[in-house]
Formats: sequence, C-alpha cells, structure tokens
Amino acid sequence: MTNQNKTNLLETFVRDREYLAETAALHAAVGRAVKANVKTESFFPEVTACAEVLKDGVPLLQQPKYLDLASKSAADAFAGVLADLTNEDLASGVKTVAEAAKAWFTSLDDASKPAFFRDLLQQKPLTDLPEGVSAVFLSVVGWAVIDGLVPDEWKQHTLYTEKVWKRNYCPVCGRQPVLAHLRKEMEGRARFLVCDGCHTEWRYRRLGCVYCGNDDLKTIEILEPEDDNRIRLDGCEKCHAYLKTYTQEGEEAIFLNDWTTMPLDILGEQHGFHKVGSVMCKDR
Ligand SMILES: [Zn+2]
Ligand SMILES: [Zn+2]
Repeated sequence: MTNQNKTNLLETFVRDREYLAETAALHAAVGRAVKANVKTESFFPEVTACAEVLKDGVPLLQQPKYLDLASKSAADAFAGVLADLTNEDLASGVKTVAEAAKAWFTSLDDASKPAFFRDLLQQKPLTDLPEGVSAVFLSVVGWAVIDGLVPDEWKQHTLYTEKVWKRNYCPVCGRQPVLAHLRKEMEGRARFLVCDGCHTEWRYRRLGCVYCGNDDLKTIEILEPEDDNRIRLDGCEKCHAYLKTYTQEGEEAIFLNDWTTMPLDILGEQHGFHKVGSVMCKDR
C-alpha cells in the first residue's frame, strides 16, 4: 500500500469519529514537524548485521554507542519540532502545552538536552518539570522524534526471525509492545508485536501474555467490542495488563496505532485491566 493510500484510509476513519479529531490533528501536526526537522539517521548499522548486533538481547538504541548518538541527534532536532508545533493551528489548550514545552526545552543547557532524550529512551520518569510542562506531551513528541531517526528497514518484522529476536521488548528501542497483529503465515497465523515508541514490529510467540509470560490460557480474557470484530483485547488475569490485537489485514494504517484504538482502552479499563507500552501513559 502506498503512503498516500495509508493516509487516505486513516483520514476517512478519523472523519467518521469526531472524538478522535483533536488527537488526530495533533498526530498529523507532529508528523509534519518531524518530517521537516528530523533526518533518518545514518549511524544505524546495516540491517544485514542485525543478528550480530542484537545477539546479547540488548536493543540497538540501549547499547551505549547508539544511545549516545540517538540522544544527540534527537536533541538537535527537538527545538525545531517544538517550534513548528507552536506555529500549527492546534486547539488552544494543546498550543499552550506546546509553547510551554518549547520554552522549557530551549532553556536547557547543552548537556541537558541530550540527557533528556537519554532519560526518555531509558524510560525514566520525567520528573522535575516546571508547572505547565506536560510529561505526556514531551513523551509523545519526543518519541515521535526518536521514531523519525530509525530507518524503515530496521522497523520491518521480516527482519526479526526467531533466530534474531524472540523477546517481549522492542529490538530497536527496548519498549514493551502496545499492540499486536495476527497475520497469516505459511503455518497459520502468527503474532507480531508493535512498538509505540519507534513503530518497529517483531514476531513473537502466538499465545500467552506478552507482558508477564503467563501461558495459562484459562486466565487470558478475550474482550471484543460489540460493533467491531477487527480488533480485540487480550487481558491477563495474572499481571492485569491488556494487549490490543488487530486480527485482520489491510487496515494496518488505522489499527496499528495506539491512539486510533482508544475506545478499546475504555473496554479494558472497564474490565479492570491496564495498558502497557503506550508513549501516552504517565508512568510510561
Ligand atoms: Zn521501539
Ligand atoms: Zn500477564
């Protein structure tokens, strides 16, 4: 599917759902700002080296050399991204948040800017922020910048065969997955996990809880929204986390996004489960 087709699919989906309008406008604006300010980074190794680079189970961007390079690159681009966002036609509340984030980030000294991205990549809580500066906003926009640094070849699920990666965290950035996708494969259906930080996809075992390893299927509750059979939710009664799972093919541009599948979050919370892996979660 071309990028234009993907965009059209997503636009139509959002147009029919008014409650997504503000979030969609922010995501579109962030997408434009990242495109204008962030260059896909050339410091990434060739994908042919991925088995070797990942052999110890340490995600690429958690390895000291790449953590350092990514933090610096992201920091260099971030002020421009925030400046562009403040010039966008966003809802006034969002605009105020963007202004505050820009003022805070540009006031940091040269060492603190990459340090902010090091903390973000290592998923440390963003504390000590001045009043009015939103940790959730910084996380959403900061991770969009990190996502923009990662070459597309590194995000492809075909790269992560069982031999290369079979862990429950993202091989590129180390985040836990926010979503899953069941795809037809030669031997039936296989499960792929989706990172909400850098949007890498990787293959993972088909059954059981991806977060705690619980494989007693009697304790995995499947929840399905009444009006949509394209996506469901697997809730684990052991660790109480849920995983949104897209079960069809062709509408990945819509359903492999955390923010477009928000109604399912309500269903999960109503059943006493909590979300993991989202860049929008306060505790990340
Ligand atoms: Zn990732
Ligand atoms: Zn679990």
